[in-house]
Amino acid sequence: MPPTARTARTPRAAPGFRFPPDRDRVETIFQRLSGVMPEPKTELDFTSPFTLVVAVALSAQATDVGVNKATRTLFAVADTPAKMAALGVEGVTPYIASIGLYRNKAKNVVALSRMILDQHGGEVPLNRSDLQALPGVGRKTASVVLNELGVEPAIAVDTHVYRVSHRLALANANTPDKVEAQLHKVVPAQWLPKAHHWLILHGRYVCTARKPNCPGCIISDLCPSRAGIMADVQPSRSRTARAKAAPPSGA
Ligand code: SF4
Repeated sequence: MPPTARTARTPRAAPGFRFPPDRDRVETIFQRLSGVMPEPKTELDFTSPFTLVVAVALSAQATDVGVNKATRTLFAVADTPAKMAALGVEGVTPYIASIGLYRNKAKNVVALSRMILDQHGGEVPLNRSDLQALPGVGRKTASVVLNELGVEPAIAVDTHVYRVSHRLALANANTPDKVEAQLHKVVPAQWLPKAHHWLILHGRYVCTARKPNCPGCIISDLCPSRAGIMADVQPSRSRTARAKAAPPSGA
């Protein structure tokens, strides 16, 4: 899911941030992430380039769990462009009705299937310009597909990548495209193919938007935002503890 205007403003660059960040610090961050997640993968279910394109296109403003639930039954009946095109918009819609923006997505999935059949001989084109010409496939979707299939090391900047990059002071730009460009400059080449997954998974399970788990974070000593976040959390915890410890009024 790309950052919305609101989420895009939320993370601030870490205090004292300068760009580009220190190379040794960046290297160590990715060494540690690779140590705990040596083979990161997308959490979307797919069995072919076509089902990957469809799953990623459906995932905008939806969770991977929700998309997998929908595609499990959809792909059981339509896992090729020909079958999807034959199903048509009316046929696809009920399978994905639990996903946000499903009406538009159903139209796009059928239209992209037809374009793959008509213009690419039924095979998903694995280059950026042809991919981005498919209905409903933007830069982020193309980046996820090309990176996942090992065609091109790309960092698709979704809300998790955007937030974690800012907190770790790997980027300070204010749009996903600019953050992507900054990450391509600062992430060492050897880590680029997996950087997208590491940043997403770290943001999804550790450095979450509302309650980042800084005490349990394996890169907390390398994170310039940790002190500020912990300082924000401590007072509210103290207040909660004091409130619990206080005698009831009138006692
Ligand atoms: S220390 Fe906290 S803010 Fe920094 S990356 Fe880890 S979880 Fe995120």
